[in-house]
Amino acid sequence: MTEQDCLFCKIVSGDVPATVVRETDRTLAFRDINPQAPTHVLVVPKEHHPTAVELASSDGDLLAELVREAHQVAVADGVAESGYRVVFNTGPGAGQTVFHVHAHVLGGRGLNWPPG
Ligand code: 5GP
Repeated sequence: MTEQDCLFCKIVSGDVPATVVRETDRTLAFRDINPQAPTHVLVVPKEHHPTAVELASSDGDLLAELVREAHQVAVADGVAESGYRVVFNTGPGAGQTVFHVHAHVLGGRGLNWPPG
């Protein structure tokens, strides 16, 4: 997949619509199209990076900003106090389907452990 074909690059550029909840110079947070919890938001870097581990190697500050933004999403949705989950699916075996790194922010209901 090239960056030109990347779905989340198209959301960042505005070519594909999304419900944006937060934006910084380097990140965008938008609601998942198929929510798995009352709060289900994806936080992405505006730059294309395939996975969390690749981003950790190339720009650790930006990965940290994704995590801080995930918390701000939880605060804005009123789920920070009760608790929320931040998930980076990494690789097809873990369920990653879009290879533009994204933090899933899940909250607003009880979340089981271990995850399915
Ligand atoms: P992954 O499976 O890669 O961890 O997560 C990809 C997420 O992107 C899925 O939860 C899926 O529902 C979401 N998604 C796929 N296509 C779109 C889209 O066009 N818009 C939005 N907002 N989310 C999408």
